[in-house]
Amino acid sequence: MLTCTQCGGELHPDEGQQFVTCPYCNATVYVDKSRVVLHWSIAPTLDAAKAQAALRRWMSGSQTVKDLDEKSQITGQAFRYFPLWYFRYKTNGQERTALEPAAATSVTEIARLNLPAGDLRPYDANLDADADAPSVPLEAGMAWFAEKFAGAQVQEISLVHVPVFIFKYLFQGQTYTAVVDASSATVLANIYPAKSELPYRTVGGVAAVVFLCLALMPVMGAIVNEESGLMVGLLICGGLGLIAAPILIAWAAWVAGKV
Ligand SMILES: [Zn+2]
Repeated sequence: MLTCTQCGGELHPDEGQQFVTCPYCNATVYVDKSRVVLHWSIAPTLDAAKAQAALRRWMSGSQTVKDLDEKSQITGQAFRYFPLWYFRYKTNGQERTALEPAAATSVTEIARLNLPAGDLRPYDANLDADADAPSVPLEAGMAWFAEKFAGAQVQEISLVHVPVFIFKYLFQGQTYTAVVDASSATVLANIYPAKSELPYRTVGGVAAVVFLCLALMPVMGAIVNEESGLMVGLLICGGLGLIAAPILIAWAAWVAGKV
């Protein structure tokens, strides 16, 4: 016998029926084999244009290669309600939440979304046409959770359908996928044309070596000549430092403008 998670009332879903509304308390629940969990959705606040604007902002931001917004071309866009297993648990006396994708996705980063509890509202059957049904069984989700948060005490598991825009874009002959959360405008992507860090590391490394050499001048001076070596070393260090600093800063600025 299946009972409502919220009120304990008896539920009699039809064979194969997964999305159920409790006839007693109106809670919407999801039936996974023998388990019943509460079923939530989050309302979108962004339309397609605003979602695309959020994607463009992310593309022109500091994570991605320079001018990605201008050099890439959006080739596809779809609106979906994506299913996530939502775990409320306690660890060391503190309440936390965790998400796990309940359907296959190439953007597993979606599980990093922050879902404010106040935004959860009962799932409505009107969303069915735009909602992806869970394809990852709850049992698999629970196994994943037990492995990742060993020792944590699960207090509640529910199913949440989050509204997302899934964008495909083309950059240098390759297609990428990015997901925009239609409630918070958060952009999520696993693989994207990232800003290369190597040039920055090179500048940083060279600067460190240059200043270390300069800093050693007074020490060397003191070793060579006990009387005036330290002073001469300090003057050389200071003088060359004044010349080196603007060159390194200019170089760093040039790299920042290029990458
Ligand atoms: Zn109920």
